[in-house]
Amino acid sequence: MPDFMAAREKMVERQIAARGIHDRRIHDAFRSVPREEFVPEHLHEFAFEDAPLPIEADQTISQPYIVALMLEAAELEGSDKVLEVGAGSGYTAAILAQVVDEVVAIERHQELARLAGERMERLELENVSIYEGDGTRGFPEKAPFDAIIVSASGSHVPDVLLQQLEVGGRLVMPVGEPQEVQQLLKITRTGEDDYEQEELGAVRFVPLIGAHAWDERGKRADPRSLPELIRDAAEPLPDFDDPAFGALFDRFGDARVVLLGEASHGTSEFYRARAAITRRLIEEHGFTIVAVEADWPDAAGIDRYVRGRPRRDGEEAPFQRFPTWMWRNTDVDAFVQWLKRRNEGRPQEEMAGFYGLDLYNLGGSIRAVIDYLDDVDPEAASVARERYGCLQPYAKNPQGYGRMALTRGYAQCEQPVVQMLRELLGKRVEYVGENSDEYLDAAANARLVKNAEAYYRVMYHGAAESWNLRDTHMFETLCQLLDAKGAGAKAVVWAHNSHIGNAAHTEMGQVREELNIGQLCKERWGEQARLIGFGTHTGTVAAATDWDDPMEVKEVRPSLAGSYERMSHDAGVERFLLDLREG
Ligand code: SAM
Repeated sequence: MPDFMAAREKMVERQIAARGIHDRRIHDAFRSVPREEFVPEHLHEFAFEDAPLPIEADQTISQPYIVALMLEAAELEGSDKVLEVGAGSGYTAAILAQVVDEVVAIERHQELARLAGERMERLELENVSIYEGDGTRGFPEKAPFDAIIVSASGSHVPDVLLQQLEVGGRLVMPVGEPQEVQQLLKITRTGEDDYEQEELGAVRFVPLIGAHAWDERGKRADPRSLPELIRDAAEPLPDFDDPAFGALFDRFGDARVVLLGEASHGTSEFYRARAAITRRLIEEHGFTIVAVEADWPDAAGIDRYVRGRPRRDGEEAPFQRFPTWMWRNTDVDAFVQWLKRRNEGRPQEEMAGFYGLDLYNLGGSIRAVIDYLDDVDPEAASVARERYGCLQPYAKNPQGYGRMALTRGYAQCEQPVVQMLRELLGKRVEYVGENSDEYLDAAANARLVKNAEAYYRVMYHGAAESWNLRDTHMFETLCQLLDAKGAGAKAVVWAHNSHIGNAAHTEMGQVREELNIGQLCKERWGEQARLIGFGTHTGTVAAATDWDDPMEVKEVRPSLAGSYERMSHDAGVERFLLDLREG
């Protein structure tokens, strides 16, 4: 068993007194506090080395001489109340407790704060309280302090700490880059607004990490709260009809695809904002594709209308599937009328089209393929009737097909629908001569039937699998559209935030193994894909209480504490654009 008493005596003589620290109260404090109890057990025998030592959480207990130097510089009085920032093992706080009346010490690592607190109890040091937290903010509840000792190296001397000093109080802290030699500073508050600074020499400390010091990456931290940061970066949005609204989105005009999200399928403001941005992208930046989270055959009816193409015989009115208000609403109607007016009189290649990316209208797509073939290749149409006949009984209730395939254990209609698509694609050259728009429409419908057949089967295997199939289908449809329109084609996508945010960066991808169209676009086009989500704190939404129930207008519940929506709300800016791109 090493003789710790003797070791302490030697430490005081050789490391502290011999180096010019003559304050006897400090000597006595170093003699009475058992330094060995403040280092991990396996380092007990080194506790009195003339050096800092490693402690838990990758931190250090400071070299005894440096602690003594800082305390002497702080010119402590017996009646002082002292704040220590960076309690670490608690050793400095325990030494301070021998010299002054009250010690408040803050440590950012929970484990260290707990261990230090336990040591204070064991040593019965009742005039020390240890707190876990960011000490760069000081401790306003207990301020003012006669002295503040900062035991880690900051980027600067934080004003908040200076303001928590008594007039006449002293702050001692190292300042300088992490991993480099730093300067030990002493600041004395000589008046309400007056401070004097002295340099005490070169030191090396671990970094002070917090709101008023370094961040985890070694950069000077930004002390503003998240709502404050949002407030400072927010660009207020004018009214939707003000041309300045669209102009704010000109910065995305050179992208290949701009994806516009929404937090609900039933909030007018989201639709109007998307329409305003899209109008701008079409008018000023040459976008010619508006691809929306709607069924292809339904959107195709709208596309015929806006691009002045004739209706198909027997074409059904679009968007009859629940929830009908998602696309059958006055905001979409206003946009569609605008698109029609905008296209009128322009050459085909300059017209902007309206397309559906989704795969739910199986019956509509089957009919569209057959109608097309009836026109261009009646023989192929009768083959299509036979092949699609397999799915026809389920056209109104495709989930029934999935259930049947699961029960029987095999995908009865898979082969015919795959074959149908293959043949249609194989005859591209033959068919496309007639009318490329009509061919594109038929091919998209045939691909949709193939993917929908698979979608309804995998629905019973798991949510992630069917979600991924659906979003992959949407992405492929978007790619087909861009390809069909030629090299410079640009698209705007309208879909729910859950489709357009990059799933790889959220719980969707990281936990649930789901991908989405936003992620696939980012992977394909990188910077050329722009993802813009929309959100709100409160408002109203058109929605139903249950599937297939009638539409009601409901109040949106206020956003949850801690959510991005709440942070944005707390920023206090009515309506804004937040551009999160680096730089
Ligand atoms: N005085 C300590 C002792 O005697 O063990 C040595 C402290 S060590 C050199 C510096 C400590 O400051 C580390 O434990 C580190 O976790 C802590 N620290 C760094 N930034 C902090 C902050 N913003 N608030 C509180 N503690 C912090």
